[in-house]
Amino acid sequence: SLLDRFERYPLTFGKTAIEHLPRLTEAVGAEVEFYAKREDCNSGLAFGGNKLRKLEYIMPDAIASGADTLVSIGGVQSNHTRMVAATAAKIGMKCVVIQEKWVPHYDAVYDRVGNIMMTRLMGADSRLVDDGFDIGIRKSWEDAIQSVKDAGGKPYAIPAGASVHKYGGLGYVGFAEEVAEQETKLGFKFDYIVVCVVTGSTQGGMIVGFAAQDRADRVIGIDASGTLDQTRAQVREIVDNAADLVGLGRRVRDDEIHINPDYAYPAYGVPSEETNDAIRLAAKTEAMMTDPVYEGKSMQGMIDLAKKGFFPKGSKVLYAHLGGAPALNGYSYYYRDG
Ligand code: PLP
Repeated sequence: SLLDRFERYPLTFGKTAIEHLPRLTEAVGAEVEFYAKREDCNSGLAFGGNKLRKLEYIMPDAIASGADTLVSIGGVQSNHTRMVAATAAKIGMKCVVIQEKWVPHYDAVYDRVGNIMMTRLMGADSRLVDDGFDIGIRKSWEDAIQSVKDAGGKPYAIPAGASVHKYGGLGYVGFAEEVAEQETKLGFKFDYIVVCVVTGSTQGGMIVGFAAQDRADRVIGIDASGTLDQTRAQVREIVDNAADLVGLGRRVRDDEIHINPDYAYPAYGVPSEETNDAIRLAAKTEAMMTDPVYEGKSMQGMIDLAKKGFFPKGSKVLYAHLGGAPALNGYSYYYRDG
């Protein structure tokens, strides 16, 4: 494995299940077979999700640094800050998370249910601030790091989405290797992998892992950020950094990085009617819960691309389900009638 020389702190159950989605396949009727790799069911820590695979390669560095407090940042309904709070609780560290108002919302309980409720239950110091959506490094986050130092603590900083961190891309290199092993057992190979992208290290890591198998161009990122140029630049940077770290031995070409911007509308964190229809369809056909911020948009993208004939007839398409369902609780307004 490309990851053999990196230390891993286990936070997940191990390999994630690959599930066939026959009823969704039939409902879409595009002569393309859908499967899902269930990263959303990867751990017993506070409902799990993609961040834990990344944090497994970040935590050894955090522990070695002698830190006593994890500091991170996300939106009010951030899955990432839930996962950092979970990791801190499980390891016995303190946790400070900055939660920015990334998203306009209609639900009265938006800032009390789902991700933020669990974050608070796990003992994290969750600080709400007024800044809007941005995947970059923020002043409020730097202030939080300083506040831990001022109080005599030793912070360890984890950026939004655990992405722009020296080890942020490693976890999803491992995903690609795991898929290859599972394909051997299944007796077939997937033709495409569909993945939601915002802060970039999930897709970025996958691209490096699949580049080692000469099929990085089969990873189809569906942007949910609505800020394509920034997300694309961040994926590019993460790919280069992770490729160097694992010793890929070549530069990944720009034409191996696919990010489709067509499903992020109307904005980050706001579902379109088509996103909500995709969420309903995955729920009704496969009891698979996707959320209005991330996976609902990649689900919408996968279904729409299949209907448009983007995937050749007979393709096997693997949907990377990265988690996120707890956020549904903050969006009940959209689903009063199912
Ligand atoms: N799906 C879910 C549920 C997420 O929480 C995130 C986090 O941002 C993503 C997808 C996007 O992954 P990334 O930020 O690594 O691009």
